[in-house]
Amino acid sequence: MNLQGITFEKLLDQEEISEQIKRLARRINVEYKGKDPLFLVILNGAFMFASDLMKEIRINARISFIKLSSYESMESTGEVLELIGLNEDLSGQDIIILEDIIDSGTTVRKLLTELKASGAASVKLASVLTKKKTVPFEFPIDYLAFEIENEFVVGYGMDIDGLGRNLKDIYVRVAD
Ligand code: 5GP
Ligand code: MG
Repeated sequence: MNLQGITFEKLLDQEEISEQIKRLARRINVEYKGKDPLFLVILNGAFMFASDLMKEIRINARISFIKLSSYESMESTGEVLELIGLNEDLSGQDIIILEDIIDSGTTVRKLLTELKASGAASVKLASVLTKKKTVPFEFPIDYLAFEIENEFVVGYGMDIDGLGRNLKDIYVRVAD
């Protein structure tokens, strides 16, 4: 598979992904029973994860979207984070962040800080992927589908220059 002149090979099949997403949903259905959590989806990458996960959620739940395009743009727009799609009152809400992949953790770290200051009752984190780290994050990834090596991936919502988000499977860059 080739995108933007870069060769990729399949890493995770849609069936494995689906199985893991269902497992996460089952845990959320149990752990949030009696609560009405707010799923907060980080666009663009997490749209496919959010769609698949939400179809397996059996408890009452809300969904909202925020767009964090990159670490750089987050640095420059950090102060107006709540203006980018987050127009509801978060006080007392049980929030579950949905992210596609956590790499350095910068994106999620910043969002966690903002949300905890917003008066939310609780904030948890769900991600399809994280990359193996020598130093672990200081925050837990409460619901994680897969841990991968420190490699670049596309598919299942994740892109290279905007391409590849539509792929059902997850692909990894092949070293030349
Ligand atoms: P962070 O380093 O802040 O955890 O991740 C920065 C952003 O880069 C995240 O929004 C994440 O979606 C994206 N990202 C990190 N690793 C990869 C990757 O391997 N492939 C793609 N397509 N996006 C990635
Ligand atoms: Mg992302």
